[in-house]
Amino acid sequence: MKILSDFSLNELREELTDIPAFRVKQIFDAIIQAKDYTDTNLSKDIQSKLKENYILKPVNIYKRLESKDGTKKYLLALSDGNIVECVFLKQNYGNTICMSTQVGCRMGCKFCASTMKGLIRNLTPGEMLSTIAVVNADNGRCNERNFTNIVLMGSGEPLDNFDNVVKWIQLITDKDSFNVSERNISLSTCGLVDKIYDLSKLNFNITLCLSLHATTDEIRKTIMPIANRYTIEEILKALQEYVKINSRRVVFEYCLIKDTNDSIEDINRLKNLTKGLLCHVNVICLNPNGGSLKATTHKEAVDFVDKLNQIGVSATLRRSQGSDIEGACGMLRAKTLNEN
Ligand code: SF4
Repeated sequence: MKILSDFSLNELREELTDIPAFRVKQIFDAIIQAKDYTDTNLSKDIQSKLKENYILKPVNIYKRLESKDGTKKYLLALSDGNIVECVFLKQNYGNTICMSTQVGCRMGCKFCASTMKGLIRNLTPGEMLSTIAVVNADNGRCNERNFTNIVLMGSGEPLDNFDNVVKWIQLITDKDSFNVSERNISLSTCGLVDKIYDLSKLNFNITLCLSLHATTDEIRKTIMPIANRYTIEEILKALQEYVKINSRRVVFEYCLIKDTNDSIEDINRLKNLTKGLLCHVNVICLNPNGGSLKATTHKEAVDFVDKLNQIGVSATLRRSQGSDIEGACGMLRAKTLNEN
């Protein structure tokens, strides 16, 4: 069955030629407002015709956890029974939705629960659009936008689902849908160099984030298998190209792991790696997923960031939200799969 949210409004008009234009607009609005057939004003006749061939609401809330700090974590059920995670972060400067782009992930990063059962499948553009619609509707009026920023930092490597993510960016920024500014979208990659070049050429104004997490290829190989394919030098070259074309600051994500990437040498190497590049370093405390990696203490993380700042590296310690509700990427899904 086709997913109606995979279509833009114009594509929907071409797909549903036997339905009057104003009804097609109602269908599109229903997608954006996360409605299912029975919640719409469509006639029973149109509803039953559509139901035979099309899914209107491909994403539904399966479970919702709310943190003391207001962060909400969702497990979302897809129409084939798979589940993905999404997080709604309440923030003073505008709420943020952190969403998944794949069911699982095949990148195998050692610190990440999303990859524990490998990649199941890619999300379609419409499933990603409906993810936003469902979470938006659950956090205010469904016909208003209740968020400002979207970060592709949930389960999955966005650039490993390149075409669908590109189509989703076009859908979510469309004035007929959520009209999100490209500048309010951040995409996090573990460093698929070829795809970074491809993304640069599309000239989106989105923020590109690199999951760096190590300052040498040797260290990176021990925690991120992708380091066997691309060196840090190759990734940096691709990022320079991205900055050159898009004039956007790139963000390095650096998850501190005790006795692995938290030494004074790492601080100095970070300075060299970021030299001359329009960038910022986001330091994160490891959220243990039951693996063998150990987290640094909060104090050690603060020291690490202070030292980076002292030597002129733009860096901040990212505030951890929702840690009481399996806030880290993939943890809630992994826990639910294990329980079931
Ligand atoms: S950190 Fe990102 S790329 Fe690495 S396994 Fe997790 S979801 Fe995949």
